[in-house]
Amino acid sequence: MNIAVLALQGAFVEHEARLKKLGISCAELRKKEDLACDFDALILPGGESTVQGKLLRDLNLYTPLKKRIDEGMPVLATCAGMILLAEHIAGGESPCFASVPMTVRRNAYGRQLGSFHRTAPFADLGDVPMTFIRAPYVEETGTGVEVLARVDGRIVAVRYRKQVALAFHPELDADERIYRLFLNSIV
Ligand code: GLN
Repeated sequence: MNIAVLALQGAFVEHEARLKKLGISCAELRKKEDLACDFDALILPGGESTVQGKLLRDLNLYTPLKKRIDEGMPVLATCAGMILLAEHIAGGESPCFASVPMTVRRNAYGRQLGSFHRTAPFADLGDVPMTFIRAPYVEETGTGVEVLARVDGRIVAVRYRKQVALAFHPELDADERIYRLFLNSIV
């Protein structure tokens, strides 16, 4: 199994470290040529979604990755990555991959709660630690979107087909269960 990590900007190194610790090989996607490596799944890291979206297009990574995502490639998307997958962004910004029928709100917790940590139930995993950094939340979900976690009533994790989108950063906590859940979905 080989997992591609989008490595244009943001918190990609942390995901790579987690995969290595789990014994999973990974490849960095920085330019179009990197798509030639055989990969079974994709991680979209946190960072700045507008910058990542622009770089994806400028570097000609957008179209081939969108095709793979639409064809059913498993994706683990964290924070900015969640925004890249959303079909709609509250406030009318242009979506990126638009592959998950949901509306997300960027920087949704305001300045005071820019960054915070919680432990909350996640699907059938039990309580999971969650680190939020200028995080989005999901305002609305469309047909087929499964809600995996809520914090204070707000949706912070969803699954749609093989795409798992998280408003928080599992790469920043030691818990491995979300990675294992994702890895188990890759056949
Ligand atoms: N606020 C960032 C954005 O919109 C996301 C923050 C993060 O990935 N930690 O894109």
